Amino acid sequence: MTKDYLMNTYSRFEIVLDHGKGALVWDKDGKSYLDFAAGIAVNVLGHSHPKLVSTIREQAKKLIHCSNLYWTEPQMKLAEILSKNSMGGRVFFVNSGTEANEAAIKLARKYGKKFSPDKYKILSAFDSFHGRTYGSLSATAQPKYQKDFTPLVDGFEYFEYNNIDSLNSKISEQFCAVIIEPIQGESGIIPANKNFLKAIRKICDEYNALLIFDEVQCGMGRTGKLFAYQHYDVEPDILTVAKGLGGGIPIGAVVANEKADVFEPSDHGSTFGGNPLACSAGITVMNELLNEGFLEKVDELGDFLKKELEKMRRSYPQKIKDIRGIGLMIGIELNKIKAKDFANKCVESGLLVAVAGNNTIRLLPPLIIKKKQINEAVQIIGKVLEEFKDE
Ligand SMILES: *Cc1c(COP(=O)(O)O)cnc(C)c1O
Repeated sequence: MTKDYLMNTYSRFEIVLDHGKGALVWDKDGKSYLDFAAGIAVNVLGHSHPKLVSTIREQAKKLIHCSNLYWTEPQMKLAEILSKNSMGGRVFFVNSGTEANEAAIKLARKYGKKFSPDKYKILSAFDSFHGRTYGSLSATAQPKYQKDFTPLVDGFEYFEYNNIDSLNSKISEQFCAVIIEPIQGESGIIPANKNFLKAIRKICDEYNALLIFDEVQCGMGRTGKLFAYQHYDVEPDILTVAKGLGGGIPIGAVVANEKADVFEPSDHGSTFGGNPLACSAGITVMNELLNEGFLEKVDELGDFLKKELEKMRRSYPQKIKDIRGIGLMIGIELNKIKAKDFANKCVESGLLVAVAGNNTIRLLPPLIIKKKQINEAVQIIGKVLEEFKDE
């Protein structure tokens, strides 16, 4: 076995993973890890969830793929579940987060064209993350991702997150949309302020711009509500989701309300998007999340994890700068310790974590995590903190 044929796109942890069960994964040598990365917020039901496994197995026996030239029951059903449990509207299925945002961007541009040929601009926030393909990358206002790939798509401008004056100074009738993560994930788990999201909604209405919430990471029950915006009393015109939706099977979705739902046949498409295998996985995930008490439990466990980490911050004020997040989407901002070094030590100690933006450790455990496993993870984090000497 060799690594030589894979492009050099990731700085990977030096382990080869083999199988998993619940919140645990094992590497090729049989060492186990508590998985607090969950494939970057993907494995919401953990690994090898019996219901998800049987759904995939049964659907694979019936029909894996048939293209969007035909209707399938799993696709119609998952669309209905998503619509009825969000702000409502109709759904377009894709295979990833970036593709969900590409579809949202196209919806917004077509919407703008109904009013004026000049209404094509899109605003997004600095330090946002919307994906790697050109439309989404153009919305991802981070020089480190954009600089080697210019020129980007025309018409994207940026404002400061949680700064309404910054947004106000940019917006005009030329904008067809504002796209934003209710909780910035990749740049370090930074929740939006409530007043800020409310103000964006007002400004979008004033300028007839669509409001797009990118919930690719913060959606799917991660925050203790099905969608993060449900904490905020603000509804988007377009909602994008992906990561957790298929519990590991690639699928994303765009939900658009009546105003934003402007696609007509041949405007957009996807060969794989919404195939019956992916949609049946999505239905199973949604049904689990919507089970009585499931999201309340996520909320409870998230509070517990955050409180434990707050305690730790008080014990190590010189090493931990900040604890942020909602539900099971928690960031630990480190001080004078490199997040990547910290994450490596966690992995050595049997805990998988993700690194984010500003020297932050991202904790995104499966939503089926047990309190006992949270305690174990907190203990490992404490032990790793001890290994870094005080300055
Ligand atoms: C991961 C992520 C994306 C991109 O998703 P891919 O499936 O990797 O294309 C977009 N937006 C947010 C908020 C994300 O966290």
